[in-house]
Amino acid sequence: MTRVSRDWIKQLPKPELHVHLEGTITPQAYARISRRNGLEPAADPAALFACSDFESFLRSFLKVVRVLRQPIDFAELAYDYLKASAYDGVRHVEFFLSPATQRKLVPELDLEHLVRAVAEACARAERHFGTTSLLLFDMVRNLGEAEAIADLDLAQRCRGYRVVGIGLGGDERNFPARDFRAVFERAEALGLRRTVHAGEAAGAHSIEDGIELLHAERIGHGVSARGDRRVMEIVRTNAVAIDACPTSNVVTGAVRRIDAHPLYEFLSEGLLVTLSSDDPAFFGASLVDEYAALADQGFPEIELVNLARNGFRASFASEEQKKGWLAEVDRFAMSR
Ligand SMILES: [Zn+2]
Repeated sequence: MTRVSRDWIKQLPKPELHVHLEGTITPQAYARISRRNGLEPAADPAALFACSDFESFLRSFLKVVRVLRQPIDFAELAYDYLKASAYDGVRHVEFFLSPATQRKLVPELDLEHLVRAVAEACARAERHFGTTSLLLFDMVRNLGEAEAIADLDLAQRCRGYRVVGIGLGGDERNFPARDFRAVFERAEALGLRRTVHAGEAAGAHSIEDGIELLHAERIGHGVSARGDRRVMEIVRTNAVAIDACPTSNVVTGAVRRIDAHPLYEFLSEGLLVTLSSDDPAFFGASLVDEYAALADQGFPEIELVNLARNGFRASFASEEQKKGWLAEVDRFAMSR
C-alpha cells in the first residue's frame, strides 16, 4: 500500500468545522498580544501551551485566553489562522467564538465591535487567500442559561457579521442539555444553525439529549456513542454529523490512542464523520496533522477524500457553495 503523502493531504480541498478561535493562538501571537495589552507574557510561552490532560488544557487555555482583550486581538487570530489554513488546502473554516467567556474576563469589551472586527478580518482573508469562513457562538454550559440568552441576543445582532449559528461547550457532566432547551428552541425559530459538544466527557445520553432536546445538526466529539447502536441510530436517522477531533480526544483522555478512536466504527456504521483540530495551538496538531495521523493508521486516500466530502456536506455554508466544493473534491480525486 502506498503511503499517503503530506503534500497530497495539503492539496486535498477540505473544510474545518470545529475549531475555537481562541484555541488557534500560537505561543508567538500570545507573547505579542500580551505585550500589546500591557501584560507580561509567561517566560516560556511554548511551555505554557503544553498540556497532557483535560485539567492541564483548561489551566493553560484560561491563562492564555486572559490576554485577549481587544477586538484586534481576535481579528488577528482569525486572519492568521485562515492564512495558514489556506496554505494547507483548507477551503472553508467555521470558527467557534465564546462571547460569554469574554464577558466574564473583560466586561468592558464591546462584543458587537469584537465580532465585527473578526468578520472584517475573515472577509480580508477571503479576499487574500480564498478561504471562506463563518462564525458560531459557543455557549458555555457552566455559565448558565442567562449568559446563553445574552449570547443568543448577540448572535441575532451579529447576523450581518458572518454569525450563522450557536454551539454549546463546557462541562457536560454537570450542566445537561435540558438546561438550554429554551435557548436552542429560540435559536432554531430564528433560523440559527446548531451544534453541540457532547459525548466527550459524559456518556452517550448526552449525545442523545443534544439531538433530541436541542436539535443539534452537528455533534462535537461524540466519542461516547461508541458501541451504542441505539444512539448511533439516532445520529444517523437525524442526519447529524459527528465532528471528530482525534488528537484533542487523545490529549484530554476521551480516547486512549488515535487508533482506538471510534471514528473508525462511526464510519463503518455509515455516520457522517468530519475531521477537525478543535484547539490546535494547545493540542499540537493542525488539520493536516489530523489527516496525516489517520493516514499513518492505514487510512487510504479514498477514505480521507470522503472525510473532506463529509465536512463540506455538513457545513453551514450555502447549498451552492457546498456544491462547488464537492465538485472541486471530485475533480481532485479524479485527477489522481
Ligand atoms: Zn471544541
